[in-house]
Amino acid sequence: MSLRDDDAIGLALAAAADALALGEVPVGAVVLAPDGGVLATAHNEREAGHDPTAHAEVVALRRAGAALGSWQLAGCTLAVTLEPCTMCAGALVLARVARVVFGAWDPKAGAVGSLWDVVRDRRLNHRPEVAGGVREQECGALLEGFFAARRPPPLDLDTRRASRRGSVN
Ligand SMILES: [Zn+2]
Repeated sequence: MSLRDDDAIGLALAAAADALALGEVPVGAVVLAPDGGVLATAHNEREAGHDPTAHAEVVALRRAGAALGSWQLAGCTLAVTLEPCTMCAGALVLARVARVVFGAWDPKAGAVGSLWDVVRDRRLNHRPEVAGGVREQECGALLEGFFAARRPPPLDLDTRRASRRGSVN
């Protein structure tokens, strides 16, 4: 049975909620096999592993590869609650996924249409299909809630400027 994009993002949202409980940035991802079955789910694990590359997408791609017994995820779909960054967009191309579905846009660091469009760069020989903005409000609200709760009380202007330059990734 094939999951609809809405349902796939729903699974990614559940994974993101698990991340929230662990104090990780709440981004979740799921990889669906070509027949629509769930191959892997993951959330951001940067804090747990002290690993700057442990974004939800990368963790999910690694688990899906292990589940399939192949690094090539041809025909698979990755759904994630936040628009992938440059690293993850690159990993999606390397994994040869067929489709990328994401929730919230990331105007500060997004590489699937916002700042860059890595996955549809015509110079690459593999270009996944993209569906963005799926359940965008729910995905964005989870992140906004996380950062609002962590935001320190206002200090001086320079500190606020510096924190504003930070990225959600
Ligand atoms: Zn990323």
